[in-house]
Amino acid sequence: MAPASLDEALAMRAERGDEATVLAGGTFLGILMNQGFLAPGALLSLGRVAELRGVAAEGGELRLGAMATHRDVERSPVVREGWPVLARAFSLVASPRVRNVATVGGVLADAVYASDPPAMLAALDARAVLRSPRGERAVSVGELILGYYETCIEPDELLVEVRVPPQPARATYRKFRSRSSEDRPCAAVAAVRGGAGLRVVVGAVAETPQDFPDLCDGPAEDVAAGYAERIEPLSDSRGSAAYRRRVIAAEVRRAVEEVS
Ligand SMILES: Cc1cc2nc3c(=O)[nH]c(=O)nc-3n(C[C@H](O)[C@H](O)[C@H](O)COP(=O)(O)OP(=O)(O)OC[C@H]3O[C@@H](n4cnc5c(N)ncnc54)[C@H](O)[C@@H]3O)c2cc1C
Repeated sequence: MAPASLDEALAMRAERGDEATVLAGGTFLGILMNQGFLAPGALLSLGRVAELRGVAAEGGELRLGAMATHRDVERSPVVREGWPVLARAFSLVASPRVRNVATVGGVLADAVYASDPPAMLAALDARAVLRSPRGERAVSVGELILGYYETCIEPDELLVEVRVPPQPARATYRKFRSRSSEDRPCAAVAAVRGGAGLRVVVGAVAETPQDFPDLCDGPAEDVAAGYAERIEPLSDSRGSAAYRRRVIAAEVRRAVEEVS
């Protein structure tokens, strides 16, 4: 199914629910389908819905359409000017080949633990807008991503937009890769220091982005030690849990120092 407008897409989504799999850039779905993990009865492609492609600042807030590609975000003058740390986090995903098709909605809705943008968006306090014929709701990244490949998106909802508040001047994104042949991070740290104080979100080390405001007081060493102790890291081909714990301590310290 290839609706040409958002209204049409929402109507089809509400009618078919989980019977039709939403298709954005297809970089995640394509792998699952090619490997035989997924055999959708129908695909609901958002590729023709122009309304979902926008990247614009409105009232000081950044609005990213769900179908904006990673490359759109990385190269947008608006994002580079006002949200440079976000342009950078998106620019560190994989290769231009992937970034030219992978979308903002896709990288949040697939809920892959080893992704880059979710941790950065969480640190910036972004909201994902979910819409259905029942109405609209805006959820934080923490509310959206529930676990491995699991989100709170209901079968009749589409992720239509991501809204990002103004970026504080002091912000950083550190991506740590453990192997030269690997795109995805072993650990990634997004740190922002603004009016509300320090916010640190660690990605790719556990099921969901790890965000502990109660650990964000004090010197960089203490914040880093707190995160390394509190997080229960996972083990995968990019690093064991014990290795990740040491990477978290080093990378959180460096990130906090960068925004001090
Ligand atoms: C070789 C390679 C390397 C990669 N390296 C990295 C990396 O280093 N860092 C990183 O962060 N990511 C990486 N990725 C992941 C890539 O960013 C994701 O595959 C991509 O973001 C998914 O976006 P998509 O638009 O292709 O989604 P799709 O594959 O089309 O969809 C992904 C999932 O989201 C659902 N979905 C999509 N859009 C919506 C919507 N609007 N509303 C509701 N549900 C929706 C789909 O149903 C599906 O379940 C890599 C991918 C590849 C192929």
